[in-house]
Amino acid sequence: MTVRVRFAPSPTGFLHIGGARTALYCHLYAKAKGGSFVLRIEDTDLERSKREYEVAMIEDLLWLGLENNEGPDKGGDFGPYRQSERVEMYKELAQQLVAEGKAYPCFLTDDELEKLTLQAQEEKKSPHAYHGKYRDLDPVEAQKRIEAGETHVIRFKNPGKKYTFTDLVRGEVTFPEDMVGDFVILRSSGMPVYNFCCVIDDWKMEMTHVLRAEEHLNNTVRQLMIYEAFNVLPPEFAHCSLLVGEDRQKLSKRHGATSVIQYRDQNFLPQALMNYLCLLGWSHPEEKDIFTLEEVIPIFDLSRFNKSPALYDIEKLRHFNGEHMRRLSSADLMAYLVPTIPEGHAFHAQSNEWKETCLEFFKEKINIPSELPEQLNVLFSTESETGEAVDEVLAWESTASIKEYIKSEVAKMNDSFISEEKFNEFTDHCKKELKIKGKFLFKGLRLALTGMAEGPDLKVVIPLTPIEVMKKRLGL
Ligand code: GLU
Repeated sequence: MTVRVRFAPSPTGFLHIGGARTALYCHLYAKAKGGSFVLRIEDTDLERSKREYEVAMIEDLLWLGLENNEGPDKGGDFGPYRQSERVEMYKELAQQLVAEGKAYPCFLTDDELEKLTLQAQEEKKSPHAYHGKYRDLDPVEAQKRIEAGETHVIRFKNPGKKYTFTDLVRGEVTFPEDMVGDFVILRSSGMPVYNFCCVIDDWKMEMTHVLRAEEHLNNTVRQLMIYEAFNVLPPEFAHCSLLVGEDRQKLSKRHGATSVIQYRDQNFLPQALMNYLCLLGWSHPEEKDIFTLEEVIPIFDLSRFNKSPALYDIEKLRHFNGEHMRRLSSADLMAYLVPTIPEGHAFHAQSNEWKETCLEFFKEKINIPSELPEQLNVLFSTESETGEAVDEVLAWESTASIKEYIKSEVAKMNDSFISEEKFNEFTDHCKKELKIKGKFLFKGLRLALTGMAEGPDLKVVIPLTPIEVMKKRLGL
């Protein structure tokens, strides 16, 4: 049997981090089993669904490396892949259930429904206890009311028994018999609800596995009932753990950037985001934490899912970005970082060789591209730092001698940079001729050359600093 796994987002917003994780697991599982990864757009909420979001989601998925085999963008043997284009089929199948006595028209108005729900609450019954008011209405009578134009929904006749299934992540799950009542499958507008469409599509599109977020676990009971009503075996289900923020609440906008597009805009590496998301709820069999999608596909399986909520920590994601960035080849590192440096920055005026050396050095100091410009100040800024640390070094007599000596040397230079050898000469001179040692030497040199009290290795930084910057710093 070919494994078929679908990712079924509702296009009501940009692709969420949680959605990206679900898509990733679906993709990995399908690929690990040599199966198909299917994209299905669940757009029956016509008011909130927008085509722009569908387009943006597909772009985000491709950016993340999660290319689908079938979908509205690709076609396939099981289309159409947008639920809004499958409505007639849902309606027919809902009518089939009505004809078989497994669903029925319900004429409760919103007001009545509200009253009955309150009544049930007062009587300490489940809120849906009275939702079945029309379950036994004579079908002939029901048909008459429908023909007379009376507003109605179609409700599913809940068999009222316990449902149990084995979730591939959570093990055996049992739903109590009174968990749901006779639930709506077709709204008064004639539009079917998520739980109904989802079952019809997973069945008709021959899905073998449904991997989705834990928040859908409670929908599964309704879905199992619908499968049963159609005499169809349900797919395997795997409900992945919830993503939570630091406060242990479900991840939401309050916790910061939660849309994939925001990370794309901040120039995160897609492979880093994928790697981090993969580990939120799943673990590598060799406890590896840095890997690519290609590396994980052959070893991905469902037994390594974790049931407990996974903490989404942006700081950790930055760390993963740094790790993946440092694994890039020099050429890829250039292609990644150069476009992120603001236009007009003096960086862009340097040679390619210089840029490469510079980025190879600074990649060790940063995790995400937006941290780079500040790091580059050590090469380009002509303003001295201020503060206690600087004042301390400035107060030493030796610092003035170092500066005076370096100034006279640099004034004579015609080169574009101070080479490492030249820098070593400066250091030796200060040591041997000026007799300056230890922190007086190193801190003094640093302040004289960079205007900073602390910073990265001078041996690397000085040969990368353009001489005109150096001259300005020295007041030349
Ligand atoms: N459209 C649903 C969602 O976006 C899909 C849930 C499912 O995978 O069944 O949450």
